[in-house]
Amino acid sequence: MIKIICLQLLIEEKQMRIETILNLVQKFKSFVYKSVKLVGKGQLLRIEITVVPRKNSRGICSGCGKKCSCYDHQEMRQFEFVPLWNVPVYFCYKMRRVNCKNCGIKIESVPWSDGKQTMTKTLMQFLANWARKLSWQETARSFQSSWHKVFSSVKYVVDYGLKHQDLSNVESIGVDEIAWKKGHKYLTLVYQIDTHCVRLLWIGKDRTVKTFLKFFRFFGKENSRGLKHICSDMWKAYIKVIKKKAPQAVHILDRFHIVAKLNKAIDEVRADEHRRMQKDGHEPVLKKSRWCLLKRKENLTEKQEATLEDLLKYNLKSVRAYLLKEDFQGFWEYVSPHWAGKYLDRWCTRVMRSKIGPLKKVAKTIRKHKPLILNWFRAKKAFSSGIVEGLNNKVKVATKKAYGFRTFSCIEIALYHQLGKLPEPEMTHRF
Ligand SMILES: [Zn+2]
Repeated sequence: MIKIICLQLLIEEKQMRIETILNLVQKFKSFVYKSVKLVGKGQLLRIEITVVPRKNSRGICSGCGKKCSCYDHQEMRQFEFVPLWNVPVYFCYKMRRVNCKNCGIKIESVPWSDGKQTMTKTLMQFLANWARKLSWQETARSFQSSWHKVFSSVKYVVDYGLKHQDLSNVESIGVDEIAWKKGHKYLTLVYQIDTHCVRLLWIGKDRTVKTFLKFFRFFGKENSRGLKHICSDMWKAYIKVIKKKAPQAVHILDRFHIVAKLNKAIDEVRADEHRRMQKDGHEPVLKKSRWCLLKRKENLTEKQEATLEDLLKYNLKSVRAYLLKEDFQGFWEYVSPHWAGKYLDRWCTRVMRSKIGPLKKVAKTIRKHKPLILNWFRAKKAFSSGIVEGLNNKVKVATKKAYGFRTFSCIEIALYHQLGKLPEPEMTHRF
């Protein structure tokens, strides 16, 4: 649409002015683009656009939002706008101070800026949009900006989004933890996992009872009462808080977390056995077998499949552990929680007789949490299962791309930006 108008203007006027394009893509009711200048040269080349208030228009008080008479003008300020053909663009404007009946002498508020930043809102949205596709560093490099400016831009849209997001109608949530930084630091992440909407709702530092209680405080009593399903891992703090804050919800221990626990045990058994065999001078049959034992059979490469075939000929602890893990897959095939429960009991008994320490530990945990695990069958169709795993991977990718996310507030903003599906400030034109 805009393209067509521009073309028409080109034909009619012959000479195209930058003000004309600006009025098409970014028009402000009470302000006028007065003149456009090309300043400097080489690396310092820039476009300066002088903005003035429309004749007889009154400034808006930044305290109360009312129109007031002008008190005086301040020095010319520059606001960075979206670059044009890779040339930086600035709005130059003398801010007015207004005489407000309610607030006294106040600086006016202008529609292109939030008053604090030297960047226009439009530029911040522009950079933030790119920062979803590129890393922050790459975004900065592509648009001759700085990492810090990109960070401020993302923060601006995230702050707006958090302020305007709708938390009603959330029926299913999943809580998950991810390791963050070295030295056992964790983050708690809460997702909405309804079939109609999957998004990150909240991030908290640590994974304590206190952390998770903070989520419920943020989420509110009424919204918490509306929860029907909550998915979590077996972390004690989470289980405790869910019982207290949303007792009406069906609490499910997620398949993904149980499988992860099993895999961790297998890994332990294998590494231990491999080390022992090497020490005793046996043939290193377990070398390079890690993924053969951890991956699902159908996901193995041809070479891995051959290694696995070979391995299965040996009577190794690792092999027995692997077979028990493979058997556990059968558990998820059940439809009725009753029969699934029977299967689980039989499986646990076999594991307890197996003398494989790490696996026995998992079986004990599974026994302890049996009712919550069986809830998986009760709620299977109500939310997209497996979704927590997908989100967990996305978070890992986002934090790996983490170019400089050293602080909690950085990672918080980056994850909300990537996964929060937050509402964005309205734009008349997509730059
Ligand atoms: Zn006021």
